[in-house]
Amino acid sequence: MLNSPVLTLNSGMVPIDICNVKDAIILQVLNKAEAVKVDDTFTIRSQYISIPLPRVIMLLNFHKIPKKHVVYSRLNIIYRDDMRCQYCGKRYSMNDLTVDHVIPLSKWNTVLPYKKPENPNSWENQVCACKSCNAQKGNMLLKECRLKLIKKPVEPKYMPYLVISRDKANRYGWLEFLNYNVRIVEAISVEA
Ligand SMILES: [Zn+2]
Repeated sequence: MLNSPVLTLNSGMVPIDICNVKDAIILQVLNKAEAVKVDDTFTIRSQYISIPLPRVIMLLNFHKIPKKHVVYSRLNIIYRDDMRCQYCGKRYSMNDLTVDHVIPLSKWNTVLPYKKPENPNSWENQVCACKSCNAQKGNMLLKECRLKLIKKPVEPKYMPYLVISRDKANRYGWLEFLNYNVRIVEAISVEA
Protein backbone atom coordinates (compact mmCIF):
# COMPACT_ATOMS: atom_id res chain seq x y z
CA MET A 1 0.00 0.00 0.00
CA LEU A 2 2.76 2.48 0.91
CA ASN A 3 4.34 1.85 -2.47
CA SER A 4 1.20 2.58 -4.49
CA PRO A 5 1.71 5.39 -6.98
CA VAL A 6 0.44 8.92 -6.30
CA LEU A 7 0.11 11.49 -9.06
CA THR A 8 1.95 14.65 -8.03
CA LEU A 9 0.73 18.02 -9.31
CA ASN A 10 2.56 21.32 -9.05
CA SER A 11 0.85 24.32 -7.47
CA GLY A 12 -0.77 25.09 -10.81
CA MET A 13 -2.40 21.63 -10.93
CA VAL A 14 -0.05 20.41 -13.68
CA PRO A 15 1.10 16.80 -13.22
CA ILE A 16 4.86 16.72 -12.78
CA ASP A 17 5.69 13.38 -11.25
CA ILE A 18 4.52 10.13 -9.76
CA CYS A 19 5.63 9.45 -6.21
CA ASN A 20 4.49 6.73 -3.83
CA VAL A 21 2.05 6.85 -0.91
CA LYS A 22 4.86 6.98 1.61
CA ASP A 23 6.45 10.06 0.01
CA ALA A 24 3.05 11.67 -0.42
CA ILE A 25 2.25 11.27 3.27
CA ILE A 26 5.59 12.72 4.30
CA LEU A 27 4.98 15.74 2.05
CA GLN A 28 1.53 16.20 3.58
CA VAL A 29 2.80 15.91 7.14
CA LEU A 30 5.49 18.50 6.36
CA ASN A 31 2.79 20.78 4.89
CA LYS A 32 4.51 20.74 1.52
CA ALA A 33 1.58 19.13 -0.25
CA GLU A 34 -2.11 18.51 0.17
CA ALA A 35 -4.20 15.66 -1.12
CA VAL A 36 -6.59 16.61 -3.90
CA LYS A 37 -7.94 13.11 -4.38
CA VAL A 38 -8.06 10.35 -1.81
CA ASP A 39 -9.36 6.84 -1.57
CA ASP A 40 -11.66 6.87 1.46
CA THR A 41 -11.84 3.12 1.64
CA PHE A 42 -8.31 2.98 3.02
CA THR A 43 -6.88 4.88 5.95
CA ILE A 44 -3.21 5.23 6.76
CA ARG A 45 -2.79 5.08 10.51
CA SER A 46 0.20 5.52 12.73
CA GLN A 47 0.72 6.73 16.27
CA TYR A 48 0.49 10.34 15.10
CA ILE A 49 -1.65 10.43 12.01
CA SER A 50 -4.74 8.98 10.47
CA ILE A 51 -5.34 10.09 6.91
CA PRO A 52 -7.11 8.65 3.90
CA LEU A 53 -4.99 7.04 1.22
CA PRO A 54 -3.80 9.78 -1.18
CA ARG A 55 -4.20 9.16 -4.93
CA VAL A 56 -3.35 12.67 -6.18
CA ILE A 57 -1.46 15.37 -4.27
CA MET A 58 -0.67 18.98 -5.07
CA LEU A 59 2.61 20.57 -4.04
CA LEU A 60 1.90 23.80 -2.17
CA ASN A 61 4.85 25.91 -3.19
CA PHE A 62 6.15 24.56 -6.44
CA HIS A 63 5.07 26.18 -9.68
CA LYS A 64 7.65 24.87 -12.12
CA ILE A 65 7.40 22.00 -14.56
CA PRO A 66 10.76 20.28 -14.22
CA LYS A 67 12.41 18.98 -17.34
CA LYS A 68 12.99 15.30 -16.96
CA HIS A 69 16.32 13.90 -18.01
CA VAL A 70 15.67 10.97 -20.26
CA VAL A 71 16.86 7.60 -19.10
CA TYR A 72 18.27 5.42 -21.86
CA SER A 73 15.88 2.52 -22.29
CA ARG A 74 14.11 0.57 -25.02
CA LEU A 75 10.83 2.16 -24.06
CA ASN A 76 12.24 5.69 -24.23
CA ILE A 77 13.74 5.00 -27.66
CA ILE A 78 10.23 4.17 -28.83
CA TYR A 79 8.86 7.36 -27.25
CA ARG A 80 11.69 9.46 -28.68
CA ASP A 81 10.67 8.21 -32.11
CA ASP A 82 7.01 8.96 -31.35
CA MET A 83 6.04 5.29 -31.80
CA ARG A 84 6.89 5.70 -35.46
CA CYS A 85 8.94 3.11 -37.36
CA GLN A 86 12.10 4.95 -38.41
CA TYR A 87 12.29 3.00 -41.67
CA CYS A 88 8.77 3.02 -43.15
CA GLY A 89 7.65 6.12 -41.21
CA LYS A 90 4.34 4.65 -40.04
CA ARG A 91 3.04 4.78 -36.47
CA TYR A 92 2.20 1.55 -34.72
CA SER A 93 0.86 0.44 -31.36
CA MET A 94 3.39 -0.56 -28.76
CA ASN A 95 2.86 -4.28 -29.36
CA ASP A 96 3.92 -3.99 -32.98
CA LEU A 97 7.13 -2.10 -32.31
CA THR A 98 10.65 -3.26 -31.72
CA VAL A 99 13.97 -1.54 -31.18
CA ASP A 100 16.50 -2.06 -33.95
CA HIS A 101 20.28 -1.65 -33.97
CA VAL A 102 21.01 0.50 -37.03
CA ILE A 103 24.48 -1.01 -37.23
CA PRO A 104 23.79 -4.60 -36.14
CA LEU A 105 25.86 -5.93 -33.26
CA SER A 106 27.15 -8.70 -35.55
CA LYS A 107 28.59 -6.09 -37.95
CA TRP A 108 29.74 -3.56 -35.38
CA ASN A 109 33.43 -4.38 -35.75
CA THR A 110 33.31 -4.21 -39.53
CA VAL A 111 32.46 -0.49 -39.49
CA LEU A 112 35.28 2.04 -39.14
CA PRO A 113 35.22 4.03 -35.87
CA TYR A 114 34.66 7.42 -37.52
CA LYS A 115 31.63 6.06 -39.33
CA LYS A 116 29.74 4.93 -36.26
CA PRO A 117 28.68 6.12 -32.79
CA GLU A 118 30.83 5.23 -29.79
CA ASN A 119 28.55 2.54 -28.52
CA PRO A 120 26.26 0.08 -30.34
CA ASN A 121 23.71 0.16 -27.51
CA SER A 122 23.06 3.88 -27.57
CA TRP A 123 20.56 6.55 -28.57
CA GLU A 124 22.58 7.04 -31.75
CA ASN A 125 22.50 3.42 -32.89
CA GLN A 126 19.04 2.31 -31.85
CA VAL A 127 15.72 3.22 -33.40
CA CYS A 128 12.10 2.27 -33.18
CA ALA A 129 11.17 -0.15 -35.97
CA CYS A 130 8.03 -2.06 -36.88
CA LYS A 131 8.30 -5.83 -36.86
CA SER A 132 8.16 -6.04 -40.62
CA CYS A 133 10.96 -3.51 -41.28
CA ASN A 134 13.04 -5.06 -38.51
CA ALA A 135 12.67 -8.49 -40.12
CA GLN A 136 13.49 -7.06 -43.53
CA LYS A 137 16.62 -5.38 -42.20
CA GLY A 138 17.80 -8.45 -40.34
CA ASN A 139 21.54 -8.27 -39.78
CA MET A 140 22.25 -5.95 -42.67
CA LEU A 141 23.87 -2.55 -42.68
CA LEU A 142 21.79 0.25 -44.18
CA LYS A 143 23.84 0.23 -47.35
CA GLU A 144 23.18 -3.49 -47.75
CA CYS A 145 19.41 -3.22 -47.69
CA ARG A 146 16.82 -0.95 -49.26
CA LEU A 147 15.78 0.67 -46.00
CA LYS A 148 16.58 4.28 -45.09
CA LEU A 149 16.22 6.09 -41.80
CA ILE A 150 13.62 8.86 -41.82
CA LYS A 151 15.80 10.85 -39.41
CA LYS A 152 19.17 10.61 -37.70
CA PRO A 153 18.82 9.13 -34.20
CA VAL A 154 20.13 11.40 -31.43
CA GLU A 155 19.97 11.55 -27.66
CA PRO A 156 16.89 13.53 -26.56
CA LYS A 157 17.70 16.28 -24.09
CA TYR A 158 14.55 15.87 -22.09
CA MET A 159 11.01 14.68 -22.40
CA PRO A 160 8.46 17.45 -22.03
CA TYR A 161 5.88 15.11 -20.60
CA LEU A 162 5.06 12.37 -18.18
CA VAL A 163 4.20 9.03 -19.67
CA ILE A 164 1.29 7.28 -17.96
CA SER A 165 -0.60 4.20 -19.05
CA ARG A 166 -4.37 4.55 -19.39
CA ASP A 167 -4.79 1.48 -17.25
CA LYS A 168 -2.87 3.06 -14.38
CA ALA A 169 -4.67 6.39 -14.76
CA ASN A 170 -8.01 4.59 -14.56
CA ARG A 171 -7.04 2.39 -11.67
CA TYR A 172 -5.93 5.30 -9.48
CA GLY A 173 -8.50 7.85 -10.63
CA TRP A 174 -6.00 10.20 -12.28
CA LEU A 175 -7.67 10.81 -15.64
CA GLU A 176 -9.40 14.06 -14.67
CA PHE A 177 -6.05 15.54 -13.55
CA LEU A 178 -4.02 14.70 -16.63
CA ASN A 179 -2.97 17.80 -18.49
CA TYR A 180 -1.36 18.86 -21.75
CA ASN A 181 2.04 17.60 -20.67
CA VAL A 182 0.95 14.04 -20.00
CA ARG A 183 1.15 11.42 -22.66
CA ILE A 184 -1.35 8.62 -22.12
CA VAL A 185 -0.30 5.31 -23.59
CA GLU A 186 -2.68 2.43 -24.11
CA ALA A 187 -0.42 -0.38 -23.04
CA ILE A 188 3.19 -0.81 -22.12
CA SER A 189 4.44 -4.20 -23.07
CA VAL A 190 8.03 -3.30 -23.88
CA GLU A 191 10.27 -3.62 -20.88
CA ALA A 192 11.88 -0.32 -19.99
ZN1 LIG B 1 8.42 -0.13 -40.63
